[in-house]
Amino acid sequence: MRLVLLGAPGAGKGTQAVFLKERHNLVHISTGDIFRHNLKENTPLGLEAKKYMDSGQLVPDDIVMKMVGTKLAELKPEEGFMLDGFPRTVKQAEFLESITKLDGVILFKVPDEAIVKRLTSRAVCKECGNVTNIHEHSKCPLCGGELYRRDDDNEETIRERLRVFHEQTEALEDFYRSRGLLLEIDATGMPEEVFERVSDELRLL
Ligand code: AMP
Repeated sequence: MRLVLLGAPGAGKGTQAVFLKERHNLVHISTGDIFRHNLKENTPLGLEAKKYMDSGQLVPDDIVMKMVGTKLAELKPEEGFMLDGFPRTVKQAEFLESITKLDGVILFKVPDEAIVKRLTSRAVCKECGNVTNIHEHSKCPLCGGELYRRDDDNEETIRERLRVFHEQTEALEDFYRSRGLLLEIDATGMPEEVFERVSDELRLL
């Protein structure tokens, strides 16, 4: 299965990717995670991406497209994948269409104010990447690992990321709807409930 996970920052794409990976054995390709990994390793790509990430802007299309093109070319033909955080612009979606055929695009829908609330309390496990709430846990509830807050999860940057989402990424809803690929999910509520809705939609594919 070849999927795109679409939705505003904080809509739960990464959390659902963990469930999807377990159930469907899909390779998880998160462009944000790749940039953060590169930043940690101080690579030229990481340092370039940081300029944009810190202020909530998008990294230029050419850089992201090259990176995703390389990742997809590395997959074996039989491997399914889910793209998380890519595409984010129509140009990126057109590029993706030119290199692969998708089975579906899952759109995670959450109101903006719920997103601000989610992201201002989001913490991520350093060990396993599990996403949790900083007000509810001081250590990762899954593996006991140390939790950290993402640099861009502050209210000012969150609002800018949401603005950029509405301005540049929301257009992808029509792009994929017109191709008959869009699966719309109410992504409010508990992660397990959202995953039930995702599974119901995927059964129809
Ligand atoms: P994310 O982890 O998906 O929220 O991404 C974090 C940041 O990485 C974004 O705010 C962008 O600066 C950058 N980024 C991730 N994916 C893309 C993309 N497809 N196009 C442009 N910038 C991206």
